[in-house]
Amino acid sequence: MCTSSDIINDSKKIVIKIGSNVLSDDNGNVNKVALKNIIEQVNELINQGKQIIIVSSGAGICGVGAINKWSRRGDINYKQALCSIGQVELMMAYKEYFAEFDIHVGQMLLTREDFGDHTRNLNIRNALFTLVDEGVVPIINENDCVSVEEIKIGDNDTLGALTASLWNADLLIILSDIDGVFDKNPKDHEDAKLITIVSDIDKLLNEIECCGKSSFGTGGIVTKIGAAKKVNEYGIPMLLLNGKKRDIIKNVAENLECGTVFFKV
Ligand code: ADP
Repeated sequence: MCTSSDIINDSKKIVIKIGSNVLSDDNGNVNKVALKNIIEQVNELINQGKQIIIVSSGAGICGVGAINKWSRRGDINYKQALCSIGQVELMMAYKEYFAEFDIHVGQMLLTREDFGDHTRNLNIRNALFTLVDEGVVPIINENDCVSVEEIKIGDNDTLGALTASLWNADLLIILSDIDGVFDKNPKDHEDAKLITIVSDIDKLLNEIECCGKSSFGTGGIVTKIGAAKKVNEYGIPMLLLNGKKRDIIKNVAENLECGTVFFKV
């Protein structure tokens, strides 16, 4: 019996964060197959009566895909330019794929500071509640052009956690390119073991090795564990799943796969 399955089935309000690794294929192009499949699963969740907010990375890769240059430029202004171009591409893909299910999407570009300001906080909340109540799926991303610090730490995992807390979500799902948290980086160690349940995050951090991140992923496993810590403090569980695997959310809900679930007992 997998706890993750019960948690998905019992949750009504779910924030799903999609990592840039999920949205890029091996050549660094946008992985449309993975994106379409996630949207199909979101549609099924909505049909089950659940409400969904998406926090999406991937603007950078979409920018490279669209303009086919600057991928190796390290300067921050070029990274921002790529995100600016790619954000449009990304939203066009979301709009097109959700339209197949007659679902509208609404874009919200936020910075971490927005969450610290009382009035902006209320505005974000009101906009989110209105969109979701009206059956629209909000797609949130960092406003990369105005948040230079964030572009450096690329912290959409934290943005996912902040969104989940602000919206009083029942669950945060982080989709990345690994099956969950391992005792060491599974990309470097074939014998790495998956940890399926985490109820003590501080203990976990003392026990595992976590390093290495992809060229597009900027948060790494540490910010995912940090996001879990944040939402768990509000009593919200977090699931880390492999978004590159077809039907992953559905399969976890049906108890066919597990991922890592973080919750406070
Ligand atoms: P995303 O783009 O999905 O946000 P990141 O590249 O930021 O993904 O972070 C996920 C990466 O963290 C994995 O691809 C993996 O290589 C790395 N990683 C490092 N240590 C671990 C670990 N102990 N367990 C799982 N993943 C790990």
